[in-house]
Amino acid sequence: MTRAPEVVAGVDIGGTTTQVLLCAGDLRVKDRLEVSTPAAEGGAAMVGAALDAVRRLLGRTPARLLGVGVGAAGVVDARAGRVLVASDSFRGWAGFEVTAAVEQGLGVPAFLDNDVNAFLRGEVTAGAVAGEPDVLGMMLGTGVGGALWLKGALYDGPEGAAGEIGHVPGFGELACTCGGRGHLETLASGRSIAARYRERTGRGGTGRGVAEAAGRGDPDALAVFEAAGAAVARALLVTAGLLDVTTFVVGGGVSRSWSLLEPAVRRALLAEPPVSGRPLRVLPAGLGEDAVAVGAAARARTELDPHTAPTAAARRTKRTGRAGPCD
Ligand SMILES: [Zn+2]
Repeated sequence: MTRAPEVVAGVDIGGTTTQVLLCAGDLRVKDRLEVSTPAAEGGAAMVGAALDAVRRLLGRTPARLLGVGVGAAGVVDARAGRVLVASDSFRGWAGFEVTAAVEQGLGVPAFLDNDVNAFLRGEVTAGAVAGEPDVLGMMLGTGVGGALWLKGALYDGPEGAAGEIGHVPGFGELACTCGGRGHLETLASGRSIAARYRERTGRGGTGRGVAEAAGRGDPDALAVFEAAGAAVARALLVTAGLLDVTTFVVGGGVSRSWSLLEPAVRRALLAEPPVSGRPLRVLPAGLGEDAVAVGAAARARTELDPHTAPTAAARRTKRTGRAGPCD
């Protein structure tokens, strides 16, 4: 009798859609399902939709489910598996006990991460920066999120906010969605790219629309992308100067316009090279829409079977006091 293959599930709960993947031990995607997120119906409904999707996948791809990793937008307590702060578009999500609900529903261990942390874990484990020990990940989506991978492990800081480069000042004077001023997000998010273009031209639309206009040579659209790229370059320089991190991975909807963004970042870095003289390596996300769900699955795999994961091995070495890459 052959045993069913073992899988972990990766779940990405976004504002409009929830992506669910079944991943093999090496994180290869075996099957996938995308369902709409019932964001207005509360936490139980959102997790319920994800669990239904996992069950449907297991129905058509027989496998033994070992655990589930969940990536979710907002501020989360990754240790307690609970959402702390969520945007207004999610009803009844702040305070929701995500991992408890998943464990109760499926009878396997579950783990929760902030979506940007999950994105970076996915890219470092199986994406554009696979195997890199030190990386800043940036998601240029509706807003701008950041996450930090240091010495082969996610570094989230004492308050879980390490790497949040999207909301530090020093990027101009414009008002940010968070209430602050001059944040990277005011220039480099999809929403901001649309807003900056509207200010210049009076024409509305989306960030994607501005990218299309830039592709047609529209000088205002090109100028908006130039400013976005220069701001991203500044964020990279700050990170490199502070942490000596020189590898960067950029995801989110705006990164799909890499052919516009990348030359602008390069020009800004040439004009203002890093103090260390070490070149900065900037890559677009390699896993595309899968990055958050793959990263969430990678977290589950690491927690469930630390022997297979180099990052967990490094942490174990540190805890036992032996010399290792973290010491
Ligand atoms: Zn802000």
